[in-house]
Amino acid sequence: MSDRLSSLPVAIFPIRTWPDPVLRSPAALVTEIDGDIERLVNDMIETMYDAPGVGLAAPQIGVSLRVVVFDAGDGPFHLINPEIVETSGSWTFDEGCLSVPERFWPIKRAGFARARGLDLDGNTIEFAGEELLGRVLQHETDHIEGALLLSRLGRRIRKQALKEMREEAMGLRSEQ
Ligand code: ZN
Repeated sequence: MSDRLSSLPVAIFPIRTWPDPVLRSPAALVTEIDGDIERLVNDMIETMYDAPGVGLAAPQIGVSLRVVVFDAGDGPFHLINPEIVETSGSWTFDEGCLSVPERFWPIKRAGFARARGLDLDGNTIEFAGEELLGRVLQHETDHIEGALLLSRLGRRIRKQALKEMREEAMGLRSEQ
């Protein structure tokens, strides 16, 4: 896979940030794994490393398809049409998102997660892990469903965060 990916020209895409609606819409299933999907995976990996981040979902570069890439230390890996098929335990961790820049919240998720999807050859593959890998699999799969980490916050904290982010967005607009 890596040989094939490295032979393609790559592009780094700007990362969409809240409140871009593409981040809040469920992405479409990939029905045909073709050269476009291969290029998308390739570009997403480059964009993730450039950011830098440990994971990226296609909606974050404005493509509403179920494709994620990640590197929790031994990647890069990709999953097409990913689904979380098993979770256990719980773990609270200060989590951030490239689409909600420079903000981190302690977020409780399953400590272990297993994700299943397809690779570029159309084979069913699984990734499973605890700690960072488990966290990234859950975070990126949320993106595919149109959910940001904000949806994992308690109601009061989420309300406060959205208020701050709206004020910040308005401040940026008024300067232009
Ligand atoms: Zn994210």
